[in-house]
Amino acid sequence: MSSQSLPSPSSRPGLDASGARVDVAIIGAGLAGTACALRLHALGHKVALIDAHAEHAEEFRAEKMGLDHLSLFEKLGLDQISKPALTSMLDNHVYRLGRLYSRKDIPEFGFSYAGLVNALRRAVPSGVLNLVGKVTEIETLPDGRRLVLADGTSIDARLVVVSTGLGEAIRRMAGVKRTVLSRAHSLAFGFDLAGRARDYGFGTLNYYSTRREHRYAYLTLFPIGDTMRANFFTYRDIADPFVKRFRAEPQQVLKDLMPEIAPVCGDFELGGPVSVRPVDLSLSEDYEQPGLVLVGDAFCTTCPVPGVGISRVMTDVERLCNVHIPAWLATPGMGVDKIAAYYRDPVKVETDRAGMRVSFYARRVNLGEGLVWRLRHARNQVLRRSLLALRHPPQAGAGLGG
Ligand SMILES: Cc1cc2nc3c(=O)[nH]c(=O)nc-3n(C[C@H](O)[C@H](O)[C@H](O)COP(=O)(O)OP(=O)(O)OC[C@H]3O[C@@H](n4cnc5c(N)ncnc54)[C@H](O)[C@@H]3O)c2cc1C
Repeated sequence: MSSQSLPSPSSRPGLDASGARVDVAIIGAGLAGTACALRLHALGHKVALIDAHAEHAEEFRAEKMGLDHLSLFEKLGLDQISKPALTSMLDNHVYRLGRLYSRKDIPEFGFSYAGLVNALRRAVPSGVLNLVGKVTEIETLPDGRRLVLADGTSIDARLVVVSTGLGEAIRRMAGVKRTVLSRAHSLAFGFDLAGRARDYGFGTLNYYSTRREHRYAYLTLFPIGDTMRANFFTYRDIADPFVKRFRAEPQQVLKDLMPEIAPVCGDFELGGPVSVRPVDLSLSEDYEQPGLVLVGDAFCTTCPVPGVGISRVMTDVERLCNVHIPAWLATPGMGVDKIAAYYRDPVKVETDRAGMRVSFYARRVNLGEGLVWRLRHARNQVLRRSLLALRHPPQAGAGLGG
């Protein structure tokens, strides 16, 4: 749906013929933007939320989170809205060195990313000016910013929040650059397994790589509703022949790489197509600007292997909406001095740094590139072998895999 197909501005609540004036205009209604809109509205601020699409399309993104992620939803008052979109699970089976290494009951939650974002979007109250359209101009005003949409609608806001994820258009319009710190850092595959999730003999299953030459971190299986979903995180380039082979015969590739778990995984029979997403690690530059802030993937991107994306996104939203925006709006002006406080927020800074750090660490230690990382990889394998031997003393003739 484009902005042109919406009713005329004057017939939409909150908009008159000359447009609208709000405290905060948010561009991009993914997880970050929608969470910002809900939280700021709940805190009594006047908010506009603008996205190019009326609904978030199905796409392969984050599909699993833990209690630490959920606690951030709680801090924003979004846990109750989100819970119906989540499938909760226990009984986590962890395989290392090809053998069952641990079984734990740590709560985790599976979800379709579009299902979660759309559940949050449906909860956006009518008091939020919710617009579907394209922003074509961002002007600087003495006390904020003016957005102009493709249909001519103009929104004056004291603050613009840019939460457009990987989209380049708005960042470019605002003069924000992006530096890629690690191109093609990882490559994620997402697919369904055949059959009903309840018929598998585990809640979740994580199988970690046994050999660094295999160039993957782990396969994780978890339910979304009654479907057993798989995320397979590799360190491959999209042009690697492995990708072509995986698309052509995923069942055989998985059986070759992890034969030990094939019997408990329905012999890896797939229940649908394979999605493939390459991931770059990136960071924005020139972002300290009056009247404009970046949140979530619009600010930086990390790797899905350590699963830190959601906590980074929700930490941005929590610090911005619970701490900084209420303080900024309480006094006149929206200069760089105010905006800088968010980018220097110690909780945000540490969350971003840690996300980037573990993204690099996971790749280096999994691939064992260079002597130091090869030694670390070997040390980790030795430690795990010893632990496995303590837990399950080897029987005659039984090996521990790679
Ligand atoms: C394959 C994959 C697997 C992942 N797995 C995990 C995981 O297991 N755990 C984890 O924690 N994280 C994971 N992540 C990371 C996580 O998904 C992201 O960090 C998170 O979804 C980013 O949310 P966001 O709101 O910043 O961006 P998005 O959800 O991308 O939202 C951006 C929004 O902006 C809108 N938009 C874009 N351009 C414009 C424009 N010009 N005008 C108006 N609207 C616009 C889009 O329509 C969209 O709605 C994964 C990422 C990928 C790619």
